[in-house]
Amino acid sequence: MSIRRVIALALVMAAGLSVSAASCFAQGPPPEPFAVNHIKDGVYWTRGGVGGNTGFIVGKDGVIVFDSKMTSVSTREMLAEIAKITPKPVTHVILSHSDADHVNGLSGFPKGVTIIAQENCKKEMEASKSSTRPAPQDYLPTQTYDKELNLTIDGVRVQLRHWVPAHTSGDTVMILPDEKIAFGGDLVDLTQFALMHAQKGGNSAGWITSMKGILAIDANAFVSGHGGVETKATLSARLAAVEARRAKIKEMVAAGKSLDEIKATAGPEEKPHPGGPVFPTFTEVVYEEFTKKG
Ligand SMILES: [Zn+2]
Repeated sequence: MSIRRVIALALVMAAGLSVSAASCFAQGPPPEPFAVNHIKDGVYWTRGGVGGNTGFIVGKDGVIVFDSKMTSVSTREMLAEIAKITPKPVTHVILSHSDADHVNGLSGFPKGVTIIAQENCKKEMEASKSSTRPAPQDYLPTQTYDKELNLTIDGVRVQLRHWVPAHTSGDTVMILPDEKIAFGGDLVDLTQFALMHAQKGGNSAGWITSMKGILAIDANAFVSGHGGVETKATLSARLAAVEARRAKIKEMVAAGKSLDEIKATAGPEEKPHPGGPVFPTFTEVVYEEFTKKG
């Protein structure tokens, strides 16, 4: 390999690393204004502002929020929207995963809120300390769990579930069993085919296992981390597409095809989200999984 090619490759790899470290980072056009959407019985989800979608549930004495925004300013804007609906204070924040666009705005919440996350999510937030976009280290999760946590907060029944590393190593799905609503974070983000952050332990086999877990939930509305509210029909169609695409990549790798040849067979889901963050595509991540040594 010529020295020029080595340098070019090193630059590409460095660019890839900085992209993969960027974590669901909003780029491009200015953020949409906040929109608060009512689902049912005191359950809402929001889109807009800086960062991913969020959710909130008005309980007897307080409010439970699902995910922060990416900046404290945007989280305070969300709190102002919540205050238009209820004067009750936010007492609990539940995190879907450690990506910056879901946790870096935690410092916009009042000090002393209870923050609940899967234990690997907390580890990833701690590990982000030395990164370019660290999670606020004075707002780390105060309560963690491994696979399941069932709680009643302010009279609201809440079930948290984690199966295996999928989008990241610490994904949480929040289920409201009485309302039959689930908040899936980026596990149910269908705007980017299936998105896995390999550098955080995310992987396609885990995504498939987790999506099967999600499909077994007794719910009929699945709020995504980006995009809208999905149904079981859209989620099972996506699961089938992901399984078929993964099998195809596996088969082409076994036949000695190059990454470029495999990418050429990708469908429209593979296209990056317009104006959104740039991450390795599903094909790139799965190709790595099937070709990595050891
Ligand atoms: Zn994410």
